[in-house]
Amino acid sequence: MLGGGSNLVIADGGWPGLVVRIAIGGISSPATNDAAGNAVLFSVGAGVDWDDFVAQAVAQNCAGVECLSGIPGSVGGTPVQNVGAYGQEVSGTIESVRALDLKEDRIVVLPKPACGFRYRASIFNTTERGRYIILRVNYRLKRGGAASLKYADLQKHFAERFPEPVAGKKTPPSLAEVREAVRAIRRSKGMLLVAGDADCRSAGSFFKNPVLDEAQFKDLAARAAAQGLEIPSYPALDAQRKVSAAWLVEHSGFCKGYARGAAGISHKHALALINRGDAKASDIVGLKDEIQHGVQEAWGILLAPEPVFVGF
Ligand SMILES: Cc1cc2nc3c(=O)[nH]c(=O)nc-3n(C[C@H](O)[C@H](O)[C@H](O)COP(=O)(O)OP(=O)(O)OC[C@H]3O[C@@H](n4cnc5c(N)ncnc54)[C@H](O)[C@@H]3O)c2cc1C
Repeated sequence: MLGGGSNLVIADGGWPGLVVRIAIGGISSPATNDAAGNAVLFSVGAGVDWDDFVAQAVAQNCAGVECLSGIPGSVGGTPVQNVGAYGQEVSGTIESVRALDLKEDRIVVLPKPACGFRYRASIFNTTERGRYIILRVNYRLKRGGAASLKYADLQKHFAERFPEPVAGKKTPPSLAEVREAVRAIRRSKGMLLVAGDADCRSAGSFFKNPVLDEAQFKDLAARAAAQGLEIPSYPALDAQRKVSAAWLVEHSGFCKGYARGAAGISHKHALALINRGDAKASDIVGLKDEIQHGVQEAWGILLAPEPVFVGF
């Protein structure tokens, strides 16, 4: 099943079988489903370009996906790894997913709890991988809702733009301003597809941020402290902590701009493995292996790749 192909590493030998590209279009007219009229349900075809949908939602003043601006790929791809960025994940707004169940041979509507969303995971890329073809995704957004500003980079962006409250009152940025800010920040990190920018020829972040239990985190923090370092981390579910994969990569001897033949690390983002020219899939996988090995040697953590490997 192919959406936009933005999260795939395809083997040099290709894929010996049928590839189905999902091209189901259509964004339904917003339906209001609460008494106050603020909640708006969008039913979006799996083949719709994700960022086109975000742009439409923002243009209609509907909050909930503005921080996910600029992510490449299709709407149908978003539930698969519970796409997330800048403080939002699609699981925050998905109400249900309409899919063809290949096991039962019928169309089903999976309500959000049935999708098993977690960090970069859902039933679609774990327990039920390959079972469902996602046809439409229903998102519940909030008309007139405030833009989300949870992420430090975003807060910093607006703190710089609005250093002082205007007439004692700080005007919150609009959804459109947050969308533009996210796209600008993504661009500066090579995370927006921009023609001619070699640093964005990647599959996005190649490694997930490791989620550690308390004992593992304490051990890692102690190892970092012994070197006079502090590892960036964030709270995760159930007394767990998510640590920065980018930090681990950069503190294991791999800098931004690192080159390994035709493959390399983006100059703008330590987690983006880029094609520097005519890299083959094997070059990218060789670099991935080298980084995983280096991080494991230095910190005892095996980084899990984020993209989907096809034909390996
Ligand atoms: C520059 C760049 C930046 C990125 N930034 C982010 C980011 O900030 N956050 C993030 O989470 N991801 C990010 N990604 C990864 C990627 O954009 C997302 O995972 C995206 O949702 C993938 O969608 P796609 O349509 O391209 O899926 P594809 O790459 O085509 O497929 C990915 C997986 O989903 C399955 N799939 C796709 N469509 C369907 C369907 N309709 N039914 C069933 N299965 C399906 C495929 O079989 C495959 O297993 C980035 C990628 C790039 C290149």
